[in-house]
Amino acid sequence: MINLWIVSATAGLFGLTIGSFLNVCTLRWPQDESVVFPGSHCPKCGAGIRWYDNVPVLSFILLRGRCRACRGRISLQYPLVEFATGLVWAGMFSYAGFSWEAFRGAIFLTILFGIALTDARFYIIPHQFSLGGLVIGLTMAILPGGLELLQALLGALLGFGLLQAIAVGGKWMFKKDAMGGGDIKMMAMVGSFLGMPGVLLTIFLGALLGSVIFGPISYKTKKLVPFGIFLAAGAAVTYGWGASFIGWYTTSVLQLPRGL
Ligand SMILES: [Zn+2]
Repeated sequence: MINLWIVSATAGLFGLTIGSFLNVCTLRWPQDESVVFPGSHCPKCGAGIRWYDNVPVLSFILLRGRCRACRGRISLQYPLVEFATGLVWAGMFSYAGFSWEAFRGAIFLTILFGIALTDARFYIIPHQFSLGGLVIGLTMAILPGGLELLQALLGALLGFGLLQAIAVGGKWMFKKDAMGGGDIKMMAMVGSFLGMPGVLLTIFLGALLGSVIFGPISYKTKKLVPFGIFLAAGAAVTYGWGASFIGWYTTSVLQLPRGL
């Protein structure tokens, strides 16, 4: 038990630094900027941020949310993203122990979080998350545990194909783009982590959440639906509870034999 505490706490600290990097990625990738150069700097005065002022969450608290040089306010998004990512990593390792699945889940959920952030802010899903994540998903399928490589490949193909079909069909029906290219590539990535049943459940949950939550807002304001956010939420729920839901659905509702 003490071991699990140490593993989870270490994973949580690691997750905090991943979250710090995720902040940089979600702000720079959509604008085609390098995440390495230039180093972290204050968006208001441009002063470089020293390593000791760049400690996740802690620096924000010690500096009381202000830049050391110009005293300008630092967005609360930075510590919140760091903290949430830390929680995800600590949670995955306390749930799955020190295992490949813990890594796989933590990486997948981190990518989904990044996608939700960039889609909310810029209406963009950077290909570093979608295609980069697809490569990670397929690579992890070669390793023991999780999905078989074939399942991951078929999942990626189904995710890509279904959203491509929805995009083409939507354009034909409504004469405007219903689905962005980012969503299509994103679902290929999701498929490589969740397989074919997971893709179906993710799209179902994403469409449901999107229309229930954003539908009324979009109808009133004519704002574009950042569908990636809802697909990301759907994929996260599917990762966590999809297996038991799909098992219940196929055996109890469709009356298919167990293990299909
Ligand atoms: Zn400053």
